[in-house]
Amino acid sequence: FRRGDAASEHRDGLKRSAERHLIQPWPYAGSIGNEARTPIGSGDGIYITDGEGRRLIDGPAGMWCVNVGHRREELARVMYDQAMTLSYNTPWYTMSDPSAELAERLAAHAPGDLDHVFFTTGGSSAVETALRFMQFFNNVRGRPEKKLIISRGGAYHGSTYLSASLNGRPRDRDWMDGADDLVIKLTCPNPFRRPAGMSIEGFTDFLVDEFRETVTSRGADRIGAFVGEPVQASGGVIVPPPGYLPRIREICRENDILYISDEVVTAFGRLGEVFASEKVFGIEPDMITFAKGVTSGYFPLGGVMISSRLTEVLRKSNHAAAMFGHGYTYSSHPIGCAVGLKNLDLLEGGILEHARQVGPYFQERLKTLEDLPLVGEVRGAGLMACVECVADRESRNPLALDNDVGKRIDRHCHELGLLVRPLINMCVMSPPLTITREQVDHMVAILHEGISRTMDELRAEGVWQG
Ligand code: PLP
Repeated sequence: FRRGDAASEHRDGLKRSAERHLIQPWPYAGSIGNEARTPIGSGDGIYITDGEGRRLIDGPAGMWCVNVGHRREELARVMYDQAMTLSYNTPWYTMSDPSAELAERLAAHAPGDLDHVFFTTGGSSAVETALRFMQFFNNVRGRPEKKLIISRGGAYHGSTYLSASLNGRPRDRDWMDGADDLVIKLTCPNPFRRPAGMSIEGFTDFLVDEFRETVTSRGADRIGAFVGEPVQASGGVIVPPPGYLPRIREICRENDILYISDEVVTAFGRLGEVFASEKVFGIEPDMITFAKGVTSGYFPLGGVMISSRLTEVLRKSNHAAAMFGHGYTYSSHPIGCAVGLKNLDLLEGGILEHARQVGPYFQERLKTLEDLPLVGEVRGAGLMACVECVADRESRNPLALDNDVGKRIDRHCHELGLLVRPLINMCVMSPPLTITREQVDHMVAILHEGISRTMDELRAEGVWQG
């Protein structure tokens, strides 16, 4: 950003440009086509700088993606070098060196026989690819009826038509269409919101029974896939109860239902591993979708790891000429793959280990916020966490509370030097993995103060009496 009067004039001009011409993601009807958002001018390490020149901890690491931190010279250089070597090649008839190399390195990290990767442009396109692959797979093997997809409340899988049809967060679908006839939604596996009086074990049994009964009632011969985030990220960092995911995995295996693990957020170090499905949750899926952290957000790239068992079924089928009619101009983009390789070097070169070390400290320090009466629960895993506010702890009622409580906390924290991601009555945190213990302390101190100020404000307005 420029300085002085010229700078503020320049900023005002950009604000007007945005208001007149820029539509950002997830706008509201009441402000669409006339909205400017907080300008961010620069980033360095775990920090970003806003339009006022205020340095902020990047609490959500962009959108859970800037895993190795901002302004990494190694990544900038590799983008430049790759653009000067080969900026683009058609993946329809050719391939680039970085795409083959990255595919091999990702396969080495993926569990079991997930030896193949189909690169996409981001997370939605990765989920879309996995779903279309399931449809193709079942068509080719003569099971065209086996197409239903099981998803869950609290899920977020993307913004393309089919991936968005799986979304199960409150309000996401209120005004949006979806392929509802293809999707079955089950209960959100959120232990904090389990029925009153039910134990965690009882809740787990309930979820597993619901899954099994759904497979029976709708028919295993009609269900093609289950799609699930190991930890539901945008739904509010919902960590499922222990043992739940392996039991769902087993039912999928027994019923020939493909298990698609959506690791768009949890992969590339967020939970301390390149892929978390097996190492953290003990499951070997049929496909894993990823994006975000694969390039630490420096270049749009995503992909699907696909099991060799599936590719083999296709190769051995009687339909050698059946075509998986799916692919993107930017599939296997050489710059994206080159960034992915260097990003993997950085993760393997110490950042994964650092994330494993600092993760428990991050969780432990954030947990202290439960001392504040507005906070119903602090939960999380690795370097992702959520502070959920409630009107009162007894009923855990989030609705009696002003719905914008997350935004209020964000506003106060912003003034204090931290960007948080507000989600209705929740604040979600997923800082760059390079965050140090001292920076964690600073972040938690700001949150503590930001939430305290929010409580004062709510009391003063008579919205909340806690
Ligand atoms: N899947 C999950 C679990 C996500 O969190 C997201 C985005 O936040 C997506 C898919 C969609 O990814 P993208 O926004 O890159 O299309």
